[in-house]
Amino acid sequence: MKTKKIVLPDSELPRQWYNIVADMPTKPLPLLHPGTKEPVTKELMNRIFVEELVNQEMSEERYIDIPDEVQDKYKIWRCTPMVRATELEKALDLPAGIKIYFKNESVSPAGSHKPNSAVPQAYYAAKQGLNRMTTETGGGQWGSAMAMAAEMFGLDLRIYMVKVSYEQKPYRKLMMNTWGADVFASPSDTTDAGRAILAANPNDGGSLGTAISEAVEMVMKNPDARYCLGSVMNHVILHQTIIGEESMRQLEMAGDYPDVVIGCFGGGSNFGGIAYPFLRENLVNGRKTRLIAAEPTCCPKLTRGEFQYDFGDVAGFTPLIPMFTLGHGFHPADIHAGGLRYHGAGTTASQLLRDGLFEAVDIDQVESLAAGVLFAKTEGIIPAPESTHAICAAINEAQAAKEAGEERTILFNLSGHGVIDLYAYEQYLSGALKNYELSDAEIAKTVSVLEKLV
Ligand SMILES: *Cc1c(COP(=O)(O)O)cnc(C)c1O
Repeated sequence: MKTKKIVLPDSELPRQWYNIVADMPTKPLPLLHPGTKEPVTKELMNRIFVEELVNQEMSEERYIDIPDEVQDKYKIWRCTPMVRATELEKALDLPAGIKIYFKNESVSPAGSHKPNSAVPQAYYAAKQGLNRMTTETGGGQWGSAMAMAAEMFGLDLRIYMVKVSYEQKPYRKLMMNTWGADVFASPSDTTDAGRAILAANPNDGGSLGTAISEAVEMVMKNPDARYCLGSVMNHVILHQTIIGEESMRQLEMAGDYPDVVIGCFGGGSNFGGIAYPFLRENLVNGRKTRLIAAEPTCCPKLTRGEFQYDFGDVAGFTPLIPMFTLGHGFHPADIHAGGLRYHGAGTTASQLLRDGLFEAVDIDQVESLAAGVLFAKTEGIIPAPESTHAICAAINEAQAAKEAGEERTILFNLSGHGVIDLYAYEQYLSGALKNYELSDAEIAKTVSVLEKLV
């Protein structure tokens, strides 16, 4: 009988996160101060972020211990299941040599991989004696994860939620409220950045970049608050490597090792989370696993963006980040995979892509939702619209292997479930969902204005 599901006992859960920086052939370029264009100081970073997270951000240690208090919270939903997608394989009529596994991060209380970083971030904030945090959320997954984590460690949390999501996803907002957080639709009238955008266009639907500007501005005006974010930064991706570390042990129990590892890509945290431990094995132990990041066609920073220093937000408050970017002024179409609508990629992923150490593909939302529906009908789980990009890429890989007559073991990360994002499915099922074309000229408009610092 084929293995269906593998879960590690608590005693075998990973006790350390993996830091890819230790093994990168080219180290990432430093973040720059937006005014002086000099590398950012720890003092400035400490003013914005929690101190221990800044230490981790700048660390080159290969492994970082997961604090006991964080491990205790992780045990609420971890180990997450490693599942062989036997029913999907059947529907695709795959030969025996082609296997699809998925790591099911949708089983967390917030429904995605995001709590893997939210919990340690809240823990370190509380340990530093802070009592207030601010953050932003796009699709609402990070906001809900952070709301849960902040409550676990007794912190007040203020969340700026991209307005289109705030309106489309009232239940995400209610999750955050239930866990005790205050949620504002962004752009809001609570910050200068928000008011400026509303003055220019009262109907602005918001973007992650705008919400970040508001959250950072709020921190700069409140000395006892710190800002936290759910992707892009090295420390976030570090926390997410628990996914790949568990996956490796689980596949070992099944007697397998992946030829291909796939994650959808917003800022790079769930992709890096599942892929970086396998990349370590490539770099250090000569393994040859292909790593594939799947991004949406309408927000193609990896496949069509440029490597340049750029701001993390629309207003230009954050440090300058060396990354593949579409420009901080880029405004992606209002697609349903809200978590993938971000203009830039994290620094480690950007450098690794420059060095050719992973591949990127772009996928249309209609094609990816179709893959999501097939997955729901076969494996039962309704995936998050973001995750459907990874599912689609995995199906494409399986079909390519079948056509080539090759064997292939494919692992993808199911980054979350879509039960609170059914609006996307309504649009798909009614035939109203469209793909968006993006011209080179549109990309050039927001990329060409970037100052050339690389
Ligand atoms: C946030 C999110 C993503 C995208 O963010 P990454 O940091 O690139 O992982 C993907 N899937 C889900 C379910 C998310 O919540």
